[in-house]
Amino acid sequence: MDLYKLSLSEIAKKIKSKEVSIKDVLDSVYSRIEDVESKINAYVTLTKENAYKRAEILQIKLDAGEDIGVLGGVPIAIKDNICIKDVKTTCSSRMLQNFVPPYTATVVEKLENMGAIVLGKTNMDEFAMGSSTESSYIKKTCNPWDLSRVPGGSSGGSAASVSADMAYASLGSDTGGSIRQPASLCSVVGLKPTYGVVSRYGLVAFASSLDQIGPFSKTVEDAAIMLNAISGHDTMDSTSADIEYPDYTKSLVNDVNGFKIGIPTKFISEGLNPDVKKAYEESIELLKNKGAQIVEIDLDYAKYSLAVYYILATAEASSNLGRYDGIKYGYRTKDFDDLTDLYKKSRTEGFGAEVKRRIILGTYVLSSGYYDAYYKKAQQVRTLIINDFKKAYEKVDVIMVPTAPNTAFKFGEKTENPIEMYLEDIFTVPVNIAGLPGISIPCGFDSKNMPIGLQFIADAFEESKLLRVAYTYEQNTGFHKIKPEIK
Ligand code: GLN
Repeated sequence: MDLYKLSLSEIAKKIKSKEVSIKDVLDSVYSRIEDVESKINAYVTLTKENAYKRAEILQIKLDAGEDIGVLGGVPIAIKDNICIKDVKTTCSSRMLQNFVPPYTATVVEKLENMGAIVLGKTNMDEFAMGSSTESSYIKKTCNPWDLSRVPGGSSGGSAASVSADMAYASLGSDTGGSIRQPASLCSVVGLKPTYGVVSRYGLVAFASSLDQIGPFSKTVEDAAIMLNAISGHDTMDSTSADIEYPDYTKSLVNDVNGFKIGIPTKFISEGLNPDVKKAYEESIELLKNKGAQIVEIDLDYAKYSLAVYYILATAEASSNLGRYDGIKYGYRTKDFDDLTDLYKKSRTEGFGAEVKRRIILGTYVLSSGYYDAYYKKAQQVRTLIINDFKKAYEKVDVIMVPTAPNTAFKFGEKTENPIEMYLEDIFTVPVNIAGLPGISIPCGFDSKNMPIGLQFIADAFEESKLLRVAYTYEQNTGFHKIKPEIK
């Protein structure tokens, strides 16, 4: 049996019952990586030596009858903007190409405490800015379903690694859709938790009021297991939520009878690819047949989300990325006249075009004279968008929209016109603006056999509802079982 094909929960059981050894599992996944990685390019760094060392230690513990955790021996992948001590964290940028962090992110610590083994770090858009992973300085990650197409972004490597069975699960970060959109384009499950549910300590900041770490997995059950492992209060992150955290696997119930699902018809009516629309409408029918109640809702201000996002996210990015000055750490130019010249050249040479575009835009909207017209106005509209959602959740349990308006596009198709790239996030961005949880799950294929994703959005801290409706949908469809043929 090819062990790499199994789901996280399946492999964890086999390890625990000693049907397979942890080394066998690692061998299987690394040999899978050897076979297909040259075509996919999901990984920036492989941490093979560490992984085998950990496997040995965990196996000894297991054999001695110790509990090695829910994820005991399970190999996973981590997006390359999440720090692991002594392992390069590049953010797929020239700026951090040789950066080795002196500490480990809380999420990775938590996963390792549960017994997970890190396989390596995955490719991404530079500093998580993009929707196709094309802005990576390091390499181009291909969509396992069609190598001439993008995997989505910015967590394209994390999505592709799970889709191509090169990891049982992975972590990504989602600032405006970077977990859900690539999950949709690669036909895997992608979960963006409520802002504050997962610690951001050790995540390289892009836009701090929007960033959130979450899992990619092969099934909804695995998403719940991963969320159990990474969620929780962390004193190292001042925005971390100090609440009672539930056991998310308890929500894996195949039943949506009486569940109220909100459909924002007006919001999603424009620019939707016909195949995506068809899959979406069929999904509505399916859930209706399962007893869910479909309720029309208005999200009047959601259409301004992208405008708000590209002001707030760039403003925060311009401030967060100020630390890369060529002095403290990161890339430093070879040749310079004085301090100003050193700053200028290090940043000019260290950052790519998309990152520069964002820094310039963000600096502009924060500058005196423009602050009120742009930044302040965007904050006000953010509140209106939040209120829209609040009103909706007085009537419904979850909102359902497509994850992305289109399926995976060809390389280069949207790089010339950044606005076209930005439009890919129209259905994911509002969720970050309001700090809500969202999940993307596979819901079919277009006429070119490219995957389509379905997104559920719940009120803050209602991940349990998301998981329940997503699980029901998954159990009654089975799209997650269809795998790409990598050629
Ligand atoms: N694609 C969006 C952007 O370019 C979202 C990125 C993200 O979620 N990190 O900003």
